[in-house]
Amino acid sequence: MKTIAFTIDGFEFREERSRSILEVALEKGIYIPHLCYHEDLKPAPACRLCLVEVNGRLMTACNTMVREGMRIKTETDVIDQTRRLIVELLLVNHERNCLECNQSTLCKLQKAANYIGVDEKRLARLRADRHAKPIDRSNPFFDFNPNKCVLCGICVRTCDEIAAVHAIDFANRGFSTQISTFDDNRFVDSRCATCGECLMRCPTGALTIKEKRGISKEVETICPYCGCGCGLFLGIRGNRIISVRGNHDNPVNEGQLCVKGRFGLTFPNHPDRLRTPLIRKNGRLEPTSWDEALALAGSRLKEFRGDQFALLASAKCTNEENYVLQKFTRAVMGTNNIDHCARL
Ligand code: SF4
Ligand code: SF4
Ligand code: SF4
Repeated sequence: MKTIAFTIDGFEFREERSRSILEVALEKGIYIPHLCYHEDLKPAPACRLCLVEVNGRLMTACNTMVREGMRIKTETDVIDQTRRLIVELLLVNHERNCLECNQSTLCKLQKAANYIGVDEKRLARLRADRHAKPIDRSNPFFDFNPNKCVLCGICVRTCDEIAAVHAIDFANRGFSTQISTFDDNRFVDSRCATCGECLMRCPTGALTIKEKRGISKEVETICPYCGCGCGLFLGIRGNRIISVRGNHDNPVNEGQLCVKGRFGLTFPNHPDRLRTPLIRKNGRLEPTSWDEALALAGSRLKEFRGDQFALLASAKCTNEENYVLQKFTRAVMGTNNIDHCARL
């Protein structure tokens, strides 16, 4: 098979198909700073941080494909100066409180700044008085802090290309440019479906979940909400679930989750969770034993036949349990009035 031969920083590589320089370099363990690139999205060279030199010319690595004979350099004086200037200009207008920030240690701006090495004195000189923009905390699950936004556009592209909701876009021009919902509504009043896909890809602490605590371990499992069976990792702290992230390697969802799967899985520890069956006595629901509840349900079921009866099964049951429920409805109760929530 014909392969493409090229060099990165003097090392020779061969590829069977043409991919972007950034993709190839990252896969081979060569870090090129970047903010607006995400492997799930089409490239949109907005941040210009991934500049590399290709046969003597500066090019953005995220949207330049490797070609036969390319000599690629990821480090030169010009590249260093250009990157440093870009990062410093971003940091000058950035609300920097890394220790309190949800994204700290995962933040791509922090990583790029550490890698490039910024001059704090120069930053202090460049820092201008600016008015902090209000933080949108309206969504019950996530916050949007425009003061930490680097306008990379990943959230906009995610909402368009992955969520297909088109809830956000760039608004205004020049220094006033910002990410906004239609008519600058609060997120909770917008058409945002709270899928959380944009938060998962935001490279900084601009779009983050409200939960600030870290986890002690992750457990791989399947979402119990519907018949899709999306793969996910539960973030555990002590004996509590405090976060969820989609499993990229699961072929069903490839890392994506809906609002229920991403934000609705903390119910096992919820104080309102029912832990015993309840029977209505004298107009009030009172806790009872399973034996008493099942005996009552069994005796009352005898009063109904055919279409007087309907059963709603659940996606949280196993396939076998749902099979038994439909068999019971059809064969014992004599009706086809059976449905379930195991589909979207
Ligand atoms: S977004 Fe990144 S650089 Fe900004 S405060 Fe948070 S961790 Fe620090
Ligand atoms: S909110 Fe995050 S993803 Fe969206 S443009 Fe700002 S930094 Fe990029
Ligand atoms: S949470 Fe989902 S729907 Fe809402 S803005 Fe982000 S990607 Fe779009």
